[in-house]
Amino acid sequence: MTTKENNSNPPTVKEIPAIWLPGAGCTGCSVSVLNAVSPKIKNLLLDEIVPGTKVSLLFHATIMAGQGEMVIEVLKDTQKRKKGKYLLIVEGSIPTAEKGKYGTLGNLKGKHETILGSLKELGSNALAVIALGACSSYGGIPAAHPNPTGCKGVKEVFKENSIETPVINVPGCPPHPDWLLGTISSLLLGRMPELDDVGRPKLFYGTLIHENCPRRADFDKGKFAKYPGDEGCLYQVGCKGHYTYADCALRQWNNGVNWCIKAGSPCLGCVEPEFPDLTSPFYEKITTEDIKSCITTNTQSTR
Ligand code: SF4
Ligand code: SF4
Repeated sequence: MTTKENNSNPPTVKEIPAIWLPGAGCTGCSVSVLNAVSPKIKNLLLDEIVPGTKVSLLFHATIMAGQGEMVIEVLKDTQKRKKGKYLLIVEGSIPTAEKGKYGTLGNLKGKHETILGSLKELGSNALAVIALGACSSYGGIPAAHPNPTGCKGVKEVFKENSIETPVINVPGCPPHPDWLLGTISSLLLGRMPELDDVGRPKLFYGTLIHENCPRRADFDKGKFAKYPGDEGCLYQVGCKGHYTYADCALRQWNNGVNWCIKAGSPCLGCVEPEFPDLTSPFYEKITTEDIKSCITTNTQSTR
């Protein structure tokens, strides 16, 4: 073989293994991410979205073909053989009551593999954890009052179990696909994104919706909608955009076609740690001061 032929060998691509762990949720976060447009989900899974590095998804309960003990073995094998080198993406809340028995992934050798136990094992050995969606970030809807299954967000479970693996919260109900793909790209580049005080990347959650809302001029003029879908600011019909930090107004959803407020629905505050208990009733007016006074008296709050 000539030197020229040797030089034409393709460069080695570094693969980062990823496990997508399901918790208590509705799978809406997966559906949102599967609808990513630029890049598409196939680009994330098959291509080098960062030159020289790609993700190798080893486990996703909803879209993988495998099942049974064989796939539980994949989790065990990854945490042993790829210790400190794999990315853990968690979708859904973590049921912690009764030692986690309200949420199981399956059986291995006759023993229930609980979501709680799997998160503790996989989380301790991961390179980093992305808590995808409101539920895995802060508990979300499964943790809403009275929360009989003791659902919690990933960071809270880690804190209680002294697990120090870095966690990046990418909340939303569901989260925008760009928020996940951008966060993964940042990690593939070897950079931890800058986070705000509730663990979210500032790049996506750094601006108040109210500041960039196209209905802001109506708010300033006192022109308020009487019903969702009406023209005017949606504050009187429950909009939480005055306290919610996300770039929905600028990025928009469905490839820039629409988003909640443009469609005539108030913002429900779905990216905030207090969602849904303190941001509901969704269609009733609530002031920023009302929310803040609830936060200070709510000991469960992540803030
Ligand atoms: S619709 Fe919501 S975010 Fe927009 S101006 Fe009114 S209160 Fe603010
Ligand atoms: S506008 Fe509000 S409710 Fe809608 S996705 Fe953004 S943060 Fe969530």
